[in-house]
Amino acid sequence: MHRKKIVLAKYRFCSLCGHRLRAHSDGTLRCTSCSFVNYRNARPTATCLVLYRNKLLLTRRKGRPFKGWWDLPGGFIDHGDTPEDTAKRELLEETGLHISIERLFGIYPGTYPLKTDPFMVLSIAYLARSTVGKLEALDDVSESRWFAKREIPKHIAFDSNKKIIKDFLRIWN
Ligand SMILES: [Zn+2]
Repeated sequence: MHRKKIVLAKYRFCSLCGHRLRAHSDGTLRCTSCSFVNYRNARPTATCLVLYRNKLLLTRRKGRPFKGWWDLPGGFIDHGDTPEDTAKRELLEETGLHISIERLFGIYPGTYPLKTDPFMVLSIAYLARSTVGKLEALDDVSESRWFAKREIPKHIAFDSNKKIIKDFLRIWN
């Protein structure tokens, strides 16, 4: 699977006690004084391929990174939330849609290329449906639209979402 390696920001101090962190060979940063470990692993997100009358929903990003690029709707899984709840909440917040999730589509590693603190993401992608076509552009979205297969834009925000769409295009009739 396509996976670009990024250089992570090197956190220097422990979030719990303020002592120095030290890099270990397993990739973690460990506190030199207490038991704190910064695992530097991927942050999970929930992402949706939402269909309505055989068109796919894309949203245009209002902010950085990838400002102005078309994107799959979704977002970070909050502390204590399930991926399914996150997917439904994000869709409602970004487009005003109530979706029904059909199935898990796949799990995709990727990068979130922030300038000062880039990190890895793990996108949990769902296939979902909407029974209504009326869209809004809310929250961090400047535009939302249904795309037919032949209309899908070339440039899609985030390497993980690009791969999700590429895989979906193979099975989309
Ligand atoms: Zn510490």
